[in-house]
Amino acid sequence: MAFFVAAAACFAALAIVRPAEIGSIQKGIDQCASCGMTIEDVEFAAARVMMQNARPLLYDDLGCMLDADRENEGGTAHAWFVQDFNGTGWIDAKRAWYVMDAKNRTPMGSGILAFRERPAAGAMTFQQIAKARHAFMKAKFGGE
Ligand SMILES: [Zn+2]
Repeated sequence: MAFFVAAAACFAALAIVRPAEIGSIQKGIDQCASCGMTIEDVEFAAARVMMQNARPLLYDDLGCMLDADRENEGGTAHAWFVQDFNGTGWIDAKRAWYVMDAKNRTPMGSGILAFRERPAAGAMTFQQIAKARHAFMKAKFGGE
């Protein structure tokens, strides 16, 4: 019984966030919550919605978002959004497709792009891209 009460309370606290609620990025004004760079190229951007913060944390590069998420920078997120590289706007990050390739020039060099429609080659899910980014960072810098 206690479990169900706790689960229900927890569920109530997590309001569903829709992509439109993230709002548009102010190019040249909004900054990456992780590396501090000004966001100039919206098609690479991502956002994390935090438990306590009304305002989502924005990122200039999917790599910054995935690293911040893995390390719970600014707290634990409960929703994640990414910009479609093809310019259709925000997508629920768990429904998007990802590719990672060093040939893709992204603001912080992660080479990660997000798409609404599944790309023909190398498509990864949110879970898979998070793992791939972690493996890349571990190989490059060591540590956990
Ligand atoms: Zn960044």
